[in-house]
Amino acid sequence: MIVWGWGKKVINLGFAKTEYCPTCEKNRDFHISLIYRYFAIFWITIASWGAKYYYHCNICDRGIEINKKEVSHALTKNPIPWFHRYGWLAIVGVIALVAILATTLTSDNISMKGQVIYTNGNPAHDCAVYIFKGNEIESYAATGVDSKGSYSFKNLPSGSYDIYVISDTAAASNTPYFTGAPDAVAYVYAGETTIVPTISYDYSP
Ligand SMILES: [Zn+2]
Repeated sequence: MIVWGWGKKVINLGFAKTEYCPTCEKNRDFHISLIYRYFAIFWITIASWGAKYYYHCNICDRGIEINKKEVSHALTKNPIPWFHRYGWLAIVGVIALVAILATTLTSDNISMKGQVIYTNGNPAHDCAVYIFKGNEIESYAATGVDSKGSYSFKNLPSGSYDIYVISDTAAASNTPYFTGAPDAVAYVYAGETTIVPTISYDYSP
């Protein structure tokens, strides 16, 4: 659950001068304050807008809005904290970084290669290779083999895969049927190409 909200912040920038306050009907210290609206996620302010400066009695708060130009000369830096102005940029940056990192870790350079041969020793050419990740019922990916019986899968998430070889005819059916133990099991590691031991396949044309 994302907790978010917005509101108004007040920063008292300090004493400006002492003058008569018509509300208090007394001489009072007048301060300059900055008021701005903010947006926060998980109680962290990440964006702000609508900054206004007020010259006001520090006791009753009555006063007038003043132009930023009238106070900017006295300000050495923007009184709104950096994160309150550009925090959303930092958050977007962190999210982008995590997304890039996750993509790199799960898909880059992670692949699996292997070969299927018939029991007579010839390369298989009319079969398909299906891989199943973990205990998933749906195959994660499928591919045919080339004329040398070779196949490869790229951009896999790391993990354990059950490998099944079935005939092209079976693969072409709407619900290819997988039964018994897998023809091979391979564990695919991040940043590596896993070479699957040659699968000997007893279907021959
Ligand atoms: Zn006052």
